[in-house]
Amino acid sequence: MTPPLTFADASARVDAYISQFREGYFPPLLLMARLTEEAGEVARVIAHEHGKTPKPGEGAGDLELELADLLFVMMCMANERGISLERGFARMMDKVETRDAHRWTRKDGEGA
Ligand SMILES: [Mg+2]
Repeated sequence: MTPPLTFADASARVDAYISQFREGYFPPLLLMARLTEEAGEVARVIAHEHGKTPKPGEGAGDLELELADLLFVMMCMANERGISLERGFARMMDKVETRDAHRWTRKDGEGA
C-alpha cells in the first residue's frame, strides 16, 4: 500500500522536479498568472459539467487533474516564497473550526 502523502512530501517532490531545471520557479507575477490560468481550467470543467457544450474537438475535461494542476502551482508559489502549505493549511483549518464552528447546520442537531 502506498504510504499517505503529506504536504511536505508533495512540496518536496515539486521542488525536486523544478530544481532539475536552470529556469527554476517562475517569478511571483508569472506564478500568479499560472494560478489564474489553472483556476480557469477548473472553471471550464465545471461549466462543461453544468450545461456548457465543449467546443468542437475539446473534451469535457478532467476535474481531478485540473485541481491537481492548481495544487501544483500553489505548491510552486509556496516553495518559491519559502512558505509552508502544511502550516498554512493547519492555520486555515483552525480558523474555520473556531470562527465558523457555529456557522452551519450540524447533522447531529447540535447548535441548531
Ligand atoms: Mg490545467
